[in-house]
Amino acid sequence: MSILDTFSLAGKRALVTGGNRGLGLAFVRGLAEAGADVAFVARDAQRNASAVGALAAAGVQAQAFEVDLVSDDGPTQAVAGAVERLGGLDILVNNAGIAVHRPALEIPDAEWDFVLDVNLRALWRMCRAAGAHMKDTGGGSIVNIGSISSLIVNRPQWQPSYNASKAAVHQLTKSLAAEWAEYNIRVNALAPGYVKTEMAAVDEPQFRQHWIEDAPMKRYALPEEIAPSVVYLASDASSFMTGSVVVIDGGYVLH
Ligand code: NDP
Repeated sequence: MSILDTFSLAGKRALVTGGNRGLGLAFVRGLAEAGADVAFVARDAQRNASAVGALAAAGVQAQAFEVDLVSDDGPTQAVAGAVERLGGLDILVNNAGIAVHRPALEIPDAEWDFVLDVNLRALWRMCRAAGAHMKDTGGGSIVNIGSISSLIVNRPQWQPSYNASKAAVHQLTKSLAAEWAEYNIRVNALAPGYVKTEMAAVDEPQFRQHWIEDAPMKRYALPEEIAPSVVYLASDASSFMTGSVVVIDGGYVLH
């Protein structure tokens, strides 16, 4: 087996949450190009369909279905729907997330709860649903999308709910990795820095100093620069890695 074969996802079945745009769409494409059969979930049917269409136009097959991950049965629907469509599930990429910028003293309880519901509770429930399936079928790889916001405090905007949620994602990742190693389930997190998506307005002048100039590489990333690391974490190329948080940030957290 050559070294590049260890990155191959041929024969693997992968589910990506929040795959209709931004980082999630790049992850869907990357996993599919590496050989996996891929399904993704998100809420917006139109955006799901246009993402599937754009991928198909680029020669990449993926299936999408609508799930609101904060609904009571969202995570179980997502995992059962992927298992049904793909014939099993070997890889879960928990990517769906939201960020709200607001100073701490102005955050209403409902907003705090919503950010934590999407970024942490839904991700946890996805891990539990997929973990149960993977335990029964001999193992798998879970990749949780964290953030450098668990390691630094972003400026100039304040976003304590997001930062707290991503720190919890990292520690949950380590906890599940320790507990599920005996089931052959690896659980790792990826912590990106600033990436140009709808979530991160990287071109806005008021963010330039702190988001761009403060990073040693003095630029943001494009989603396709982050996707290869997800392929790595999903694949046998990272077979001895579990409970790790892989930072990919142009050097941002170095200072
Ligand atoms: P986007 O806002 O571009 O995309 C978010 C995705 O999540 C969409 O596909 C959205 O689809 C989906 N989503 C949101 N809420 C739900 C829900 N309740 N149920 C199902 N799907 C949902 O974000 P990014 O691509 O920028 O971010 C992706 C991940 O990467 C997030 O976890 C984010 O925190 C993380 N990250 C991003 C960074 C950046 O600079 N962009 C940096 C570090 C981490 P829909 O609205 O149709 O449901």
